[in-house]
Amino acid sequence: MAGLAEPTGSRVCGVLGKALCCTEPAPVLELGGGCSRAMAEVRVLVINTGGTIGMVPQSEGLAPEANKLAGALKKIPILHDSAYAAKMHIRLGTDTLVLPHSNQQSQNKTIIYTILELSPLLDSSNMTPADWRKIAKQLEENYEKYDGFVILHGTDTMAYTASALSFMCENLGKTIVLTGSQVPIYELRNDGRANLLGALLIAGQFVIPEVCLYFHNKLYRGNRVTKVDAESFNAFSSPNLPPLANAEIDITINWETVWRASNTKKFEIHTNMNSNVGLLRIFPGITAAAVKAFLQSPMEGIVLETYGSGNAPNNRPDLLDELKKATDRDVVILNCTQCLRGTVSSLYATGKALKDMGVVAGADMTPEAALAKLSYVLGKSELTLDEKKKMLSENLRGEMTSMPVGAKITLKDSRFIQEIARYLHVSCKEELAAVRDALTPSLACAAAKTGDLDALKALQNMGGNLSSGDFDGRTPLHVASCEGNLEVVEYLLKTGATVYAKDRFGATPLMNAIQFRQLDVIYLLRTTGAHLSNQELMNAGTELCSLAFNGDIDGLKAWHLAGVDLNQCGYDGETPHNVVKAAGHVEVIEFLSQLMS
Ligand code: ASP
Repeated sequence: MAGLAEPTGSRVCGVLGKALCCTEPAPVLELGGGCSRAMAEVRVLVINTGGTIGMVPQSEGLAPEANKLAGALKKIPILHDSAYAAKMHIRLGTDTLVLPHSNQQSQNKTIIYTILELSPLLDSSNMTPADWRKIAKQLEENYEKYDGFVILHGTDTMAYTASALSFMCENLGKTIVLTGSQVPIYELRNDGRANLLGALLIAGQFVIPEVCLYFHNKLYRGNRVTKVDAESFNAFSSPNLPPLANAEIDITINWETVWRASNTKKFEIHTNMNSNVGLLRIFPGITAAAVKAFLQSPMEGIVLETYGSGNAPNNRPDLLDELKKATDRDVVILNCTQCLRGTVSSLYATGKALKDMGVVAGADMTPEAALAKLSYVLGKSELTLDEKKKMLSENLRGEMTSMPVGAKITLKDSRFIQEIARYLHVSCKEELAAVRDALTPSLACAAAKTGDLDALKALQNMGGNLSSGDFDGRTPLHVASCEGNLEVVEYLLKTGATVYAKDRFGATPLMNAIQFRQLDVIYLLRTTGAHLSNQELMNAGTELCSLAFNGDIDGLKAWHLAGVDLNQCGYDGETPHNVVKAAGHVEVIEFLSQLMS
């Protein structure tokens, strides 16, 4: 990272694959042996919005205190390594800290984190959509400067903010983790330290391209959680989706559950959230007058919290009439259940009555996610009403469980893997899956190298994870980028491969594509949000001069496409333009002159 010394520390890992430093650890085949490697540095931005984690007792009760957190964290040895910080070439800013190295397998990178405090710090009960926008803007502004993000937030409305950000962050490719605590971090016994530590380790080490929420040793999908306990450290529940990760002795990521964008678009934020939305919880005896009042203009959409699997009374024509009048006025009604677990269906006549009047089924969305989704979708003013309703019924960010489309090919269909499994004397489902997971990275990388799209598809259909790195942390996307297999690159991106994967040498697919002058691939990776790090950008000058000297026009084009300023000076202060003029490569002189004009 920019201006920072390379870390000198190295660690020993015992089991192959457990401490790889890229996106996803290669699956584990217990082959024994050890490996040691220097740790790469990563940058995490911590956006402090307030909440109990940084609160102190004041005359009116607990409230956040500004400009206190970074200084306090610097005094906590598990959250700041002052010796390492002192060893670095440049002095860290007052709000930048270094997470100490740990001998546990869970840490394979040096995590440098900067705290950005929003003003004013808020108890999350005081938050509004304007605050969601403020956070989203910070994410946008800092997206390319950091590898991952942690958002400190009060627990009361954390599920709403997590849900809202999950929709506002379109084509997300990096990890965003919200966390906070039930007891301030300044107290002797508190949950803030463990929550912050876990969130930093996850945001710094894994590319989980989701808005997540980390609490009490679990990482959840942000739009699946709800606050269920005001007193326990175990404050959140994700009733319809298992955690994305469990932080036990190791941090185990449930990669099969991780949501991935299936397009090749760049990260952007959508801030136009519609405020004319609300939550209406029905109850026995609710009056038609109350429903009518709630649905009055300017209301444009409501989440109707119904009973059980989406039922509302069908013996109450007065009530149904008010709902019908609202849908006729184009008010969008999204049906969610009051139950913590389970999904809306039209199993019962009482549920079907709602469906028949144009109410959209919200499947198993939490009310928080449903409200945020409604606000997001209704904010898309370019869409027609039908398009908005369609979007509401679709799974946009993993917020709902959608029905499986077609049967999946199972492991049983792979003769090759079965043969290997037989040879290894494994037979049960779990062992077969382990063999598949162990073989997938190597097979997928080989297929990416030869451009064998069918093989990649077969591996994916078997449930193989095409984002896993091999033993050097090289993913199929790295390999396909080197080879310039555009079709494969596109397929991998559409099946959720991350452009931010780093191999053990710190190289991303974009760096690989530049090295091999794969211009089409560079263009596609850039469209998908790939970018060079500050250090790569800063170090490019000398390489550019060398390319200019050798008249390597494709090399220069590759760097240019990757977003590098070709006027940068090399180590001796010369620009590539001066170098090429001296060397006399006419075509390159013309190319650089055109860029400069
Ligand atoms: N009232 C606090 C908040 O949401 C509660 C917490 O952070 O735990 O900001």
